[in-house]
Order: sequence, then C-alpha cells, then structure tokens
Amino acid sequence: MKTPHVTATRQLKRRLGASVDTSAPGCWAASFDSSKVSFLPVAVITPRAEQEIGTVLRLANRHRVPVTVRGRGTTLMGSAAPVRGGWVVDTTKLRRVQIDAEAGLATVQAGASTLALQQAAAKKGWFYPPDPSSKAYCTLGGNIACNAGGMHGGKYGVTRDFVIALRGFLPTGEFVEWGTATKKFAAGFNLRDLWIGSEGMLGIVTGAVLKLIPQPAARWTLLTSFKDEVTALKAARVLFRARVQPAICEFLDCESVVCAERATGRSVFPGQAGRPVILLEFAGGVSEIEEGKAAVLAWAERTALGFREARDRAEAEELWAVRRKCSGAMFELGDSKLNEDIVIPMRNYVKFARYLAGLKRRSRLAIPTFGHVADGNLHVNIMYHRDNAAEVKRAEAAVHDLMKTVVALGGAISGEHGIGLAKTPFLRLQHSAAQVKAMQAVKQALDPRGICNPGKMFEIVQLWKYPKLKVSFPWDHK
Ligand SMILES: Cc1cc2nc3c(=O)[nH]c(=O)nc-3n(C[C@H](O)[C@H](O)[C@H](O)COP(=O)(O)OP(=O)(O)OC[C@H]3O[C@@H](n4cnc5c(N)ncnc54)[C@H](O)[C@@H]3O)c2cc1C
Repeated sequence: MKTPHVTATRQLKRRLGASVDTSAPGCWAASFDSSKVSFLPVAVITPRAEQEIGTVLRLANRHRVPVTVRGRGTTLMGSAAPVRGGWVVDTTKLRRVQIDAEAGLATVQAGASTLALQQAAAKKGWFYPPDPSSKAYCTLGGNIACNAGGMHGGKYGVTRDFVIALRGFLPTGEFVEWGTATKKFAAGFNLRDLWIGSEGMLGIVTGAVLKLIPQPAARWTLLTSFKDEVTALKAARVLFRARVQPAICEFLDCESVVCAERATGRSVFPGQAGRPVILLEFAGGVSEIEEGKAAVLAWAERTALGFREARDRAEAEELWAVRRKCSGAMFELGDSKLNEDIVIPMRNYVKFARYLAGLKRRSRLAIPTFGHVADGNLHVNIMYHRDNAAEVKRAEAAVHDLMKTVVALGGAISGEHGIGLAKTPFLRLQHSAAQVKAMQAVKQALDPRGICNPGKMFEIVQLWKYPKLKVSFPWDHK
C-alpha cells in the first residue's frame, strides 16, 4: 500500500536531504508528546536553518500535507502529537541565543531552551522571568505557542509579556516578521499577539526577540503554614491587598504537602506536617527586600500557624525542590491524572477552596491541588486508576464539574498549558459560539488549506480514553 503523501515526501527529501527522517524509529519518537498518546507521522524534519521551514510549509501547503511543529514535546495537552499524521517539524536544532546587554533584549531561535536563555541572560546581569517547571527542556518556540507561564507569573507576567517580536513562516510558507528589535512598535495590526498562544496552528515561529529585565540583587524566601486551605487562601488575599508583590507565591494544599513529604521522605515544614503551606520568594534590591521584610513577617505572625525564613540560598533551594517534587509525587495516589491548570479570580479563592473540598468528597478521589496564588493559576490534579472503571467514570464527571465551576466563577479553563487535544471538550464552556467562529475564521484566513497542526483546539477529543504509551521522559515526575 502506498504511504499517504508519498510524492510530497519524496520531493521534501530531494530538497532537504539529511534534515528529513522517514525511518520507523524516527517517526515513532515524534508521534507523541508528554500526553503519551501516539499518532504516527510519515516524516520528521529537523531543520538546521530557519529557511528550511519555509520549504517544508510551501510543499506541505501545495500537497495538503498536515504539519505539526514540535519543540521538546513537553506539553501535557497532546498539542504536539501529529493527530492527522503527515510531517512533524522538530525545531530543537535551531537554538541560537544572543543577548543585547545594552538594550536588555535577547534574540533567540525557536528551539533554544528556556533555561539556556535564562543562563545566557544571567551571565550579563539580565533576567528572563517566565519559568515553566519544564524549563531545562522546553523550547522558547513551545513557550510562545502555549503562552507558557510559571511561578513568576503573578509579579512579572507570562511569556506574552516578554515577546517583543516574532519571525517565522505562515502556513503557506511565506516568511513574516511581526515587529522588530525595538521596545515600541505601532505599525499595523498586531499579529504577533495572535501567534502567541496559537499552539502551532497559525504558522511556525522560527525566532523571537524577547525582553529582559535586570537580575534582582537579592532574594528572600519565607515558608508559611496554615490551619486549612480556606485560611491559607484568605491570608494570601490579605497580603496582596496590602500591595505586597512576592516574586513567587506558591500554595500547596494538604494532599500536595503529604505527597511531597512521602516522596522526599522529609517534612516540608518540621512540626507542621500535612498542613497547607504558602511558599513565598521576594526579589529586588537589597534595601527594598530589607524594608519589606517587617510587613511580611507581621502578616505571617497575624495569619499563619507557623512561618520560617530560609537561612540562605541553599535552604531556599531545598524548599523549592520539595515544591517541584509535588507533581510527580502524586502518582502514589493513582496511576493516572487529569492535570488541569485552571485560573480562579482572586475574589473567588475562598468559594473555590470550599467547592474543591466538596468535589473531593463527592468524587471520592484524591485531588491534590497546588499553584500560583499571585495569579490564581492552580494545578488541580484529579487522580485515578486507569483499570478501575468506576474511578475513571468519577474522574470524568469530576473534571466536567470542575471546568463548569471554574467558568461560572469567572475563571479560565487553562492558564498556561493551552487547549491542544486534552482540553477540547471544554473549549465551548469558555467561549461562546461567536467567539469560536471568530477563531476559526482567523485560522481559515491564515491557513486556508488547514495544514498547520490540524485536529487541535476545535474538534472534541476525549484524550483520556486513548491508550497511553509506557514511556518515560527525563522530565517526568519533576
Ligand atoms: C514536568 C512539566 C512541568 C511543566 N510546567 C509548566 C509550567 O510551570 N508552566 C507552563 O506554562 N507549562 C508547563 N509545562 C508544559 C510545557 O512544558 C509547556 O507548554 C512548554 O511551553 C512546551 O514547550 P515545548 O518546547 O516542549 O513544546 P511542545 O510540547 O513541543 O509543543 C507545544 C505546542 O507548541 C507548538 N509549537 C512548538 N514549537 C513551535 C514553534 N516553533 N512555532 C509554533 N508552534 C510551536 C506545538 O505545535 C504544540 O502545539 C510543563 C510540562 C511538564 C512535562
């Protein structure tokens, strides 16, 4: 039987030679992302030069070959899985990073990792705040396509807030630049922002100009524990109301703390075992940090059951390491999780904490929850066992209930992971028919043949029903 797109793939190989891999192991490796659901492509292209992506897209557009671009494949949403087969473009060989230390700008290629940029910037005294926990692996192109966030979001913002300009190719293979390396740009429609968060469906980003900020001179870390989740979230609101802006403000509910404690074999907060905690980090000038400390300590004294300052950076790092362990540690509560990165408006924190306690009770499932309380982006992890049909049913019911409630509370079904395949059943809870139609019109205008990452966002897929590969990634359980 003839492989689909055989003529186009032959032409592709003639033009790009060694950059094209049609081997079975190569195609298999590109068939899935961190959702671990596999859809085989017929070729994987690993461009050595940005222009090669234009060649790929021109051919694909002519022959109507689906193209899925991937960075490192760390998305948990199935967004980088080539659900319609076709070609996969792997950007990881495009990883140049240049720092303009005078202007505070970085010019990067899409396949550079977030950590590589942070390290290059730090060497010159600059700081790039967006910090997905996967930052040692994930690419800046993937961050831009998902509008990635992280622990610094509340104070500094997310990827979108740091993108000055983008370059790349439209689905038709035409080269475009949205903006240039200047901090101001008001010439024409802002299609840069349309590309950010478009999950590889409106074109392929090959490079970007990103904004940097001065590296903070000092950091101070404080751990606080609370009687229960409602008290913790109320206390966080008191802090924000006083105009205090921690660089990081991470909340861990009781279940998350217990998981992290079991995984690390030590107490997150000695003497406060199993209590919900808020872990804070303040960053800024030395005197600014010193001046702010008294007010924050007084807040902790008033609202927390216990609090403890990290004595030095090493101790602070240990605390962050415990926080980073939480996500993987949850697999002792179930072999599968529905990992939801919802956003709740601050005014509804307490309502949400009460709702979540009820959901845990009603569903009889473990739902450890942690996240970024300065921006309301909480990771709600619905844990279940895949071979227990009753649990699967309860998990499905719980996620639907959760999503409806999030929207009813004025929140968002995703704060940083995007829609991909996994969140497609919920897109229409967030967006009205008119909003979805407008998005589809944009897609049709830029990608008339529907070749860029087809099958995502708009078509409903119940990804949790697909068989999962038994593979492990270096970033699993981190
Ligand atoms: C352990 C772990 C922790 C995580 N923590 C966070 C977190 O704290 N915050 C957060 O926001 N996310 C987090 N994520 C999710 C994920 O790491 C991010 O979404 C990341 O931005 C994906 O980057 P990537 O290079 O792996 O992209 P991929 O997974 O390869 O692709 C993701 C999407 O981007 C598109 N894409 C990739 N490159 C391009 C390009 N050059 N042009 C156009 N589209 C492109 C793909 O088509 C796909 O739709 C985490 C994931 C894991 C596994």
